[in-house]
Amino acid sequence: MQQPITPGVLEVITGPMFSGKSEELIRRLKRARIARQRVSCFKPDIDLRYHRTSIASHSSQTHEARTVATVEELRAALFPQLAEIEVVGIDEVQFFDPAIIPLSLELVALGKRVLMAGLDTTFNNEPFGPVPALMALADKVTKLSAVCMVCGQSAIHTQRLGQSQELVIVGAAGMYEARCRTHFQPAMDDQHSEQLELSTQI
Ligand code: ADP
Ligand code: MG
Repeated sequence: MQQPITPGVLEVITGPMFSGKSEELIRRLKRARIARQRVSCFKPDIDLRYHRTSIASHSSQTHEARTVATVEELRAALFPQLAEIEVVGIDEVQFFDPAIIPLSLELVALGKRVLMAGLDTTFNNEPFGPVPALMALADKVTKLSAVCMVCGQSAIHTQRLGQSQELVIVGAAGMYEARCRTHFQPAMDDQHSEQLELSTQI
């Protein structure tokens, strides 16, 4: 008789930009490999900051990863090798469509340890894509904070610098900053920008 599968776990690593999500994901993936577990890592092809074949942190740590355009593509890449895989990592998970939610639960039901890293909120301070739902469904949620670039306090927000309202502008240097509650200004317009400059000079 077939043994029932012991379910895996869903671990979500979240927080604003620069909070160390990718670092923490890479750390957990490397530890899993030290424990001789087989690991497979993915990222959406929207994040082309550094490399197509790895995820990278702002502190230049990297881990091999496969770039996929959609959840369907992720599934197609992962499932043929799934029997050999124990740990699945996904970075920048906020950019995947909602199908990532049932897929992660399916992987957990198949006994996999699923590690997901992604932004919890947009630069407009709205819940970001599938991340809030994944947080709700996770076994373990690690919410990291960054350092506010205005005052040095703990930062939970991602500040978009400049005018563009486009949601998806990934990783271009100088376009985003971590900010605390006091210094975060969602949807900055010209006037706000000037006010912010003034307030940061004080
Ligand atoms: P995330 O994936 O959450 O964007 P990363 O793991 O890529 O974060 O990068 C975290 C690293 O970024 C830190 O260890 C630090 O070296 C660097 N860093 C740059 N700016 C900040 C900041 N404002 N707060 C914290 N870390 C920062
Ligand atoms: Mg990252």
